[in-house]
Amino acid sequence: MFGNTFHLLDGRVIHRGEVLPKDAVTVLPGVLRQRPVFCGDLIPVSAHGSSLYNLLTDKDWSAIRKPLIETVNQVCQACGRHQRRYLQAHELWEYHLPETGNQGIQRLGEIAILCKDCHAMFHLALADLQGHGEETMQRLMALQRWDTATAALFLDIMNERRDCHNTFAWSLDLSIVDMDVLHIQPKWQCHPELPNVLQRPSEHWGCSRQGGMQYTAILGKSWVLDGMEHPAIASPLEGDVRSVA
Ligand SMILES: [Zn+2]
Ligand SMILES: [Zn+2]
Repeated sequence: MFGNTFHLLDGRVIHRGEVLPKDAVTVLPGVLRQRPVFCGDLIPVSAHGSSLYNLLTDKDWSAIRKPLIETVNQVCQACGRHQRRYLQAHELWEYHLPETGNQGIQRLGEIAILCKDCHAMFHLALADLQGHGEETMQRLMALQRWDTATAALFLDIMNERRDCHNTFAWSLDLSIVDMDVLHIQPKWQCHPELPNVLQRPSEHWGCSRQGGMQYTAILGKSWVLDGMEHPAIASPLEGDVRSVA
């Protein structure tokens, strides 16, 4: 499934059966790691469409994504495939549940650079809808070296987590983004009564609650929409070392 040639994230090439160089620990793609860190994901329906890709202008998103692709020498961080074009960026979110109420914080932890096939492992529900759920799951199992029982257990845990997360509304903590001001796509508007809340008509399946609108709020960065700059709202998580749900 992964071929016989793997690229390390520093650009070196390894062939199947060769001994890994000792100094390569930090630059191994997921598939060559003893314990891969890539595990797939199910994004809560209530957070669908709030990705950086959906939120930011093309220019901003490129300015974030392109340097990251260069940093890993155009190599998929999961499978070690080298692609000069077409590598995609996937946001790895941490979901922080509130002690009371239903407003959670979705904190951007990292952005992974992935080929299209590996990116699908992080959107399993979408892969199912698009008719390549089975092969995507096979890929995830091969990458993680899981048997069917472990894969089933993983799916149970992810489904349970997703169902729990679906009962919350999410603010996006974008503190780690390396830009001073973010530019928001014009398909979003400010909420008429809550100027710090962004809204747009929902485009996503299963998201027709709340009158077909989708809402989000940005923490940790100032942002511009329609020429109006909105100052940053500090994230309550600032300085908080992982209390991830
Ligand atoms: Zn890949
Ligand atoms: Zn993604």
